[in-house]
Amino acid sequence: MVDKILVVEDEITLQETLAYNLIQQGYEVETAGDGKAAIEAARLFQPNLILLDIMLPILDGIEVCRILRQEMNVPILMLTARDDEIDRVIGLEIGADDYITKPFSMRELMARVKANLRRTRLDREDAQAPVIQTPKEILHFDNLVLDLVRREVLLDDQPLTLKPKEFDLLLYLARHCGQALSRDTILEQVWGWEYSGNSRTVDVHVSWLREKIERDPAHPIRIITVRGAGYRFEG
Ligand code: CA
Repeated sequence: MVDKILVVEDEITLQETLAYNLIQQGYEVETAGDGKAAIEAARLFQPNLILLDIMLPILDGIEVCRILRQEMNVPILMLTARDDEIDRVIGLEIGADDYITKPFSMRELMARVKANLRRTRLDREDAQAPVIQTPKEILHFDNLVLDLVRREVLLDDQPLTLKPKEFDLLLYLARHCGQALSRDTILEQVWGWEYSGNSRTVDVHVSWLREKIERDPAHPIRIITVRGAGYRFEG
């Protein structure tokens, strides 16, 4: 898609030079010579970028920028002639995206135009990008609820006090609900490779967890011992 650029400049020679160079670069160009014409052209043409001179007849560039900002989300590159104009552009926070001081080289101007177009294109693509599905942050198992963000476990709506590793272990088991997991796997995944303990650590933590989440810890129905294998979380 060809980017459309609106050139707003009352000095005809400069307006024509800008238009010529932009067309040479492959842009579609529309021009306006005063502030009122600029607003009308912007509404009709729906440009992808506006080059906007500040000193303009009828309505100056600052007013034009202010008005267009409320209507459309288009990058506006101000053309300023003097330092005190730059101060106005920056100080007034009129919503211009960039400015360039006259006199400027065409090469410099083209670079700015390209940079501003690229930035808005990236913003647009960001806005269109599919929302990444966040992993489930709350796991429900009947009356047992794991809130991953708050690192909180509720049983019958009452928060349980779990040690950090108990929480990690329960979370790991819960995420692999229904799967038989060996003690070594659990040890690796929950405690990490560097952990020097043995699989007895897993048994101890499982028994602590059972005390907290099982109705009858002696006859567990949530964390089941799988003979010769390890443990399985049943939910
Ligand atoms: Ca001017």
